[in-house]
Amino acid sequence: MFNKLIPCMRYSKLLFERHLHQIPLSKDRYGIIRKPFAKTMDSDIQLFKSILPDKNQILLDPQDTVGYNRDYFRYVRGLGTVVLKPRTTKEVSHILRHCNNRRLAISIFGGNTGVCGGSIPVFDEIILSMELMNKIEVIDEYSGILVCQSGCVLEKLEEKLLSKRMIMPLDLGSKGSCQIGGNLATNAGGIRLVRYGNLHGTVLGLEAVLANGTTIDLMSNFQKDNTGYHLKHMFIGSEGTLGVITRVAIACPTETTTQNVLFLGLRSYEAVLQTFLESKKRLGEILTSCELIDRVSLEVTVNHLKTASPIKDFPFYMLLETTGIQKEHDDEKVQSFLDYVIERGIVSDGVHACEPSKIDHLWKLREMIPAAVYSNRFCLTYDLSLPLKEFYDIVTVMRRRVGHLTKIVCGFGHIGDSNIHLTIAGDELTGEIQLLIDPFVYEFTRKLKGSVSAEHGIGLLKPKYLNYSKSTEAITLMKQIKMMMDPNGILNPYKVLQI
Ligand SMILES: Cc1cc2nc3c(=O)[nH]c(=O)nc-3n(C[C@H](O)[C@H](O)[C@H](O)COP(=O)(O)OP(=O)(O)OC[C@H]3O[C@@H](n4cnc5c(N)ncnc54)[C@H](O)[C@@H]3O)c2cc1C
Repeated sequence: MFNKLIPCMRYSKLLFERHLHQIPLSKDRYGIIRKPFAKTMDSDIQLFKSILPDKNQILLDPQDTVGYNRDYFRYVRGLGTVVLKPRTTKEVSHILRHCNNRRLAISIFGGNTGVCGGSIPVFDEIILSMELMNKIEVIDEYSGILVCQSGCVLEKLEEKLLSKRMIMPLDLGSKGSCQIGGNLATNAGGIRLVRYGNLHGTVLGLEAVLANGTTIDLMSNFQKDNTGYHLKHMFIGSEGTLGVITRVAIACPTETTTQNVLFLGLRSYEAVLQTFLESKKRLGEILTSCELIDRVSLEVTVNHLKTASPIKDFPFYMLLETTGIQKEHDDEKVQSFLDYVIERGIVSDGVHACEPSKIDHLWKLREMIPAAVYSNRFCLTYDLSLPLKEFYDIVTVMRRRVGHLTKIVCGFGHIGDSNIHLTIAGDELTGEIQLLIDPFVYEFTRKLKGSVSAEHGIGLLKPKYLNYSKSTEAITLMKQIKMMMDPNGILNPYKVLQI
């Protein structure tokens, strides 16, 4: 009944080879007018040199700064000429104090894997790169707490934790580059959220520097700390508009030693929902990931990777992962789940992998979808939270609206978290296509009381759609908070809020 897994495949590097001059400047693409911030002068550079002791902490040569002016997907482009790389909170604090006094705008740059253009300057904002703030301070096996600077790369943290038999509570396809500070700033979700919850739960404390240079210590090493307002939450998901996150304390689970991955074929969306429900009931606490891939997403990806699908011809596929610490226990649960869904015809075909190379292969089919769809000349992705019953309707509707005008209309994502990535791609993004998509997708989402940004954030690309998921009163309060915490608006201007 279950197919054998195809052995290893070759998988190409990411493909975003678009040349710099082909990326329009963000200010032109979005018609943004520069706010009356000061311009950097020689005296500012001298001051920065006095704060940052090493030569490699300041980049001024255009050849060195170019990579800090374009995003991962080569979609936005800025005009920043100064990159500062602090190593300590104190250095961040001095830089911010000076910039605030001088009204110099700042763009905060983490791992630059964000998909909303949040980390890239629009004009000549000073780029504050967090990459040298990469110290791990504490890994405490007893409490399960990791304390580190915010520029640590997620994958490096995972590696270090594994040596102490612990893991990070979050895992993203971008883990090789994204930083924990960027993860907090975007409240990243990822593929383990079903199991460990989001960062509002796992982050125990953080340290941030406010726009005026004040360091605010919200570090806590305890699961329980109900002393007044939980200010840390203000910074989680604030996308660098309220402060620079400099340190983090995060609760980390113990290492899991068993892993099962199921790649399942389903004949209908009802079967998808049924499988999800049964996976929660029958796999219980060992269920770690629950992903949906539709037929088009898989086809595009296997073509891109020049591989073959492990199972063929289903409108829907699901990738389920379980992790645990006792093989017999997990295997028994997985088998009983499979028996149940297969016997009842809910799942029609699938593969089951326990070995790392095979697991890796299956995950590539999910994780390489973005790279595969972005290899088209245009690609629009929408990161939506939608009620599970109507989760896939947006793909069906969009296929009807623009399927005949585009090459790809597909849907995939973290169905376990009600988060779909609707993707529309093709050769030429005509005005006709654009009109059929925007703002229809957001209106559709609003009608279902969904979120126009499930996990990627608002950044530069979506401030005008914020009101589709937030009330006027909520946005007004957000603006008031921003005004209070950053009255000169120097932190990540033009992002998140339209002010
Ligand atoms: C292949 C791929 C897969 C992905 N998968 C997922 C996924 O499963 N789930 C998910 O949620 N996202 C995913 N993403 C999006 C992205 O990886 C996340 O948003 C990630 O958290 C961004 O981290 P970063 O360090 O790259 O931040 P950046 O892109 O550098 O910055 C993102 C925002 O955070 C701000 N920022 C960065 N560091 C700080 C700091 N220290 N203090 C204050 N503000 C800061 C920036 O100014 C910007 O506004 C994926 C991206 C790619 C390319």
